[in-house]
Amino acid sequence: MTVEPSRAPAPLPVQASSPAALAAYLSSHLDDMVEEMRRLVEIETPSGDEQGIATAAALLAGRWRPLGCRVDEYPAPGVGVHLAVHIPGRGEDGAQGDGRYVLVLGHVDTVHPRGTLAATPFRVQGDRAWGPGTYDMKGALVMMAWAVQALRAVGSGPRRPVTLLLTADEEVGSHTSRPLIDRFAAGATCALVLEPAAPGGAVKTARKGVAQYRLSVTGRSAHAGNDFSRGINANVALARLVLAAASLSDPERGTTVNVGVIGGGTRPNVVPERAWADIDVRFTTRAEAERIDRALRALTADGGTVFEVSGGVNRWPLERTASAGLYEHARALAASLGLELPEAQVGGASDGNLTAELGLPTLDGLGPEGDGAHSSQEHVYLPSLPVRTALLALILETL
Ligand SMILES: [Zn+2]
Repeated sequence: MTVEPSRAPAPLPVQASSPAALAAYLSSHLDDMVEEMRRLVEIETPSGDEQGIATAAALLAGRWRPLGCRVDEYPAPGVGVHLAVHIPGRGEDGAQGDGRYVLVLGHVDTVHPRGTLAATPFRVQGDRAWGPGTYDMKGALVMMAWAVQALRAVGSGPRRPVTLLLTADEEVGSHTSRPLIDRFAAGATCALVLEPAAPGGAVKTARKGVAQYRLSVTGRSAHAGNDFSRGINANVALARLVLAAASLSDPERGTTVNVGVIGGGTRPNVVPERAWADIDVRFTTRAEAERIDRALRALTADGGTVFEVSGGVNRWPLERTASAGLYEHARALAASLGLELPEAQVGGASDGNLTAELGLPTLDGLGPEGDGAHSSQEHVYLPSLPVRTALLALILETL
């Protein structure tokens, strides 16, 4: 991963507003932010739920248009709608001279199926807000709007124009949003990603890459009682293959091979004809991705069966070199808010992996603090909202 120096962020913040004023404004609006999060969380938006995602997208478009932003909709059949929100820059100090903008990435979909909300409704208890999608990442979508609103309130704004891309299929691999990410990344100066903070409020300066594979075995079905010897058991062949695949993990290099789902056969009294396994691979380097790919494709199955491997790399690693410059910039701004901003390297991939792969300086994990992403324990730590929103505002004001 190389980063063109010409596209690195300006080293010196061109800061117009007082960090304390931004933080005070946002603290005084914490209840409004929580209420806005509640409205968004109470629209369930599992990936693939076109109606839920369209409803949430309409709510978000209605949030941004009154702020003077053009909102373009990109419907994706079977997925929902992706939104591109075009936020004007302040139009000062020559930042718009090169025509580039800051790309901010968020996603509207969650991993939680419909009905999760009934079991774990949105609720505030103490200093935390709980509910499906609060932390990943509806809280961050609320932060983004308030960051711009806070800048306006103190008489400022983003230095460059900002394109906020709100996608509908991040949790399932960004297959339909990827062309939009590629398109908007092409004109951007850098990418900020609104994924949740890592523990301790850390931003994410490196992420593993992810590959997905399906192993498919076809044998021959037969009556398990009368014709057992005529059958060729696909399940047994698959079992040997998944053990071989799992053995490719190399934890010391950060490479994991997870045989996540397997299936095969139809009934106990039938020799199974078909079996399959879905595998998730994580890696920190391109070389490791290539090693696993070669090894999976070189596997051979039991005689008489037909074995196929499909899939491949979905997201290349986000390597720290893509984040270092933006991280230092953000850390200096965080200090002006009295906020420590640690960094973390994580195993999960995001759309930040995609922008980094395109050579764009990328900083991820700018969302709220919290815990329990993708679980029934998902929540946001509310005191982090005003200060991290102020940080986001300062970043937009200075990039
Ligand atoms: Zn997410």
